[in-house]
Amino acid sequence: MTAPNYKTATRLDAIKPSITLAVTAKAARLKAQGIDVVSFGAGEPDFDTPEHIKQAARDALGKGAVAKYTEVGGLPVLREAIAAELSRVHATSIPADQVLVSCGAKHSLYNLFIALLDPGDEVIIPAPYWVSYPDMVMMAGGTPVIVPTSPDDDFTVRPEAIRAHVTPRTRAIVLNNPSNPTGAVYTPAQIAALAEVAVEKNLLIISDDIYRSLCYGDATYQSIAALGPELAARTILVDGVSKTYAMTGWRIGYTAGPAAIIKAMAKVQGQSTSNPTHLAQVATVAALTGPQECVATMRAAFDARRRAIVDLLRAIPGVACREPKGAFYAFPDLGAFIGRHFGEGQPIKDDVALCDWLVEHARVAVVPGSGFGAAGHVRLSYACSMDNIKLGLGRLREALLSLR
Ligand code: PMP
Ligand code: GLU
Repeated sequence: MTAPNYKTATRLDAIKPSITLAVTAKAARLKAQGIDVVSFGAGEPDFDTPEHIKQAARDALGKGAVAKYTEVGGLPVLREAIAAELSRVHATSIPADQVLVSCGAKHSLYNLFIALLDPGDEVIIPAPYWVSYPDMVMMAGGTPVIVPTSPDDDFTVRPEAIRAHVTPRTRAIVLNNPSNPTGAVYTPAQIAALAEVAVEKNLLIISDDIYRSLCYGDATYQSIAALGPELAARTILVDGVSKTYAMTGWRIGYTAGPAAIIKAMAKVQGQSTSNPTHLAQVATVAALTGPQECVATMRAAFDARRRAIVDLLRAIPGVACREPKGAFYAFPDLGAFIGRHFGEGQPIKDDVALCDWLVEHARVAVVPGSGFGAAGHVRLSYACSMDNIKLGLGRLREALLSLR
């Protein structure tokens, strides 16, 4: 018998598995074996979904309608609710038929890149970036163009850095504000300067706003689409309920943007996943139209944890940590520890080796910065309890200070 051919698509050869999900899975595996790991891996709120949202889902389940498909792009009532919410946030008028609901903002982004990119089309991605952007662009046949930023600019991208990377093939720039992994929040002046480049170079802006409700202290979210019709017309808004309403597992994200692009994305979705889960859409209506105090309560808890984790990180000699102003990640520079030795062993060659050692020996899971295009850094999600933060940071401190 001829051996079956298990060769997988060449298209996937350059694609890496998601490191955020890999670290989270490893921590969960160790925990399942009874090993007490403190995980700062998952970018996922530890809170349960607020009760009124769960209740809306229970009620809908009782009525049975949720057993059926919905329109590919989502329930009309949900798209209306999203359109109303996004019109308010972005000070523009977004019709419901320019909204597409997908299985998480990750799916929204994937649909978008598949719908938008021809082979060789370029997408500008400022680094550090969320791990999935470059790989999604590549899976869609496009070319990610990584634009470095500096810690001195709080890891925000400068307009001139974008200008320097624009080519005739550039289609879009990804703007993730607040940023995963850095927690940076762009000021209104910075957003205005980026808007100018987008118009000057005729770029689309993919505005990943999944953390827009999580800004702390003086930082506020400034919408680029709100800067006028010229900007609204070139901005594709990607948003969702995962982070704002502690609804990661429900898998609902959405896109609002130019009709032609939304229509193309709906075509992709209609030939792949169809609608996102009906029940989850009903819960999302309740999230968007119900009481909003839960958002402020969770934000206040994240803020307290943010301040605690940054203080504890900065108290470790050799660790440099900027203040994250949004999202729920701290992104310290652990470069000072690379090249040191674990006891009598080998020198630590990079942040990946350091993170492997930390989880194996110190029982603390953090994500290596190289997955985000920022070698030498690590990401800690502080969407976990204060006890976890205190215990985990104690372990991290002890482990790092034991390196010679
Ligand atoms: N964008 C960013 C920057 C993220 O960190 C995430 C991860 N949750 C997503 C998009 C996707 O989120 P979801 O698919 O849960 O809506
Ligand atoms: N976005 C979250 C994170 O960065 C969840 C995992 C993922 O989808 O990457 O950790």
